[in-house]
Amino acid sequence: MPYSTKDVLDRTDRFPHVDIIHRPTPFRKLERLSARLGGPEIYVKRDDLTGLAFGGNKSRKLEFIISDMLEKKADVVITWASFQSNWCMQTAAAARTFGIKPILMLFKPADQPATADGNVLLDVILDADIRILQSEKGRVVKATQAMDVLEEAGREVKTQGHRPYLVPVGGSLVRGDMNKPLGAISYVVAFAELLDQMRSSGLEPDYVVHSTGSGGTQAGLVIGAKSMSPGCRVIGISVSDPKGPFTDDVLEIARATDDALVLSLNIMADDVTVFDEYLGAGYGVVDKGVAEIIRLVFQTEGIVLDPVYTAKAMIGLRDLIKTGFFKPTDKVVFLHTGGTPALFPNREKIFEFLVKRT
Ligand SMILES: *Cc1c(COP(=O)(O)O)cnc(C)c1O
Repeated sequence: MPYSTKDVLDRTDRFPHVDIIHRPTPFRKLERLSARLGGPEIYVKRDDLTGLAFGGNKSRKLEFIISDMLEKKADVVITWASFQSNWCMQTAAAARTFGIKPILMLFKPADQPATADGNVLLDVILDADIRILQSEKGRVVKATQAMDVLEEAGREVKTQGHRPYLVPVGGSLVRGDMNKPLGAISYVVAFAELLDQMRSSGLEPDYVVHSTGSGGTQAGLVIGAKSMSPGCRVIGISVSDPKGPFTDDVLEIARATDDALVLSLNIMADDVTVFDEYLGAGYGVVDKGVAEIIRLVFQTEGIVLDPVYTAKAMIGLRDLIKTGFFKPTDKVVFLHTGGTPALFPNREKIFEFLVKRT
């Protein structure tokens, strides 16, 4: 017997959260896109509209993580990610609201200009302490390497009499001062929210398709599906890592979430579905397909995708439709995870592919 949404929410309620998002986020059918792609019934869950600082999946996670920071009496948060990170910007925004000072370690490839645009502009407006470190193009920095950098910054901040809270990229893996999978727990809640919305219209999801990066969103959705709607499969479209190591991360977070919520789901590797065929030229690299899918979804549904995450997830969804992965009657929910501020720093590539037509 699956758990009811109420059963599961009673368990997630044991983890306190601050209130910084609009909920429930909108849910609706994408009639025109479904017709255009000639596939199953496509629905969208608009987690790009959570409301905090242009919205996105990170603000759901931060509701729980900020609460943990407050409980631990932190006055500084230190985290890391790529240069145009949604996570870092959202962390800075949420932290500032609660009087916590953000220190952001932003890893940037040498050829990416250090302009204050997109998320970085927002970081600057928030007066975040921005530290730029070097990374390789199209690659995400290894977590172990980045945690060392965080710990060093943590020691420095302590000598100045502050109490730092170290949190890994995306608020996903249980590392640093985040000793419970709080990001993933927020996505168990999100899955329950989605189910309540769908069931009130007599619908049940067959698939949830979304962009996956640090694994917390997928782990939470997997736990949500397995506990409350076991017929639903969660499909993560990777934007950064190959399938193998990434599946291990999702599994680790999902198992920690299962333990934290005492659901005894016995999560196995085949509960986690990751496709790594849609990485394109690598993390954050915008190609013609990315520009074109952003145009397609904007023109058909008035929804803006971002070039780093959700466009690649939509490319994956379109390809899975094309290759006959879904049945025509399947109800497929596309989770829009946000990230739209990253559109603007990529203006030149988008212009090149959509306007210049070389
Ligand atoms: C971080 C992010 C994701 C991936 O979520 P994870 O929990 O890190 O896997 C997807 N989309 C957007 C827009 C993001 O910022």
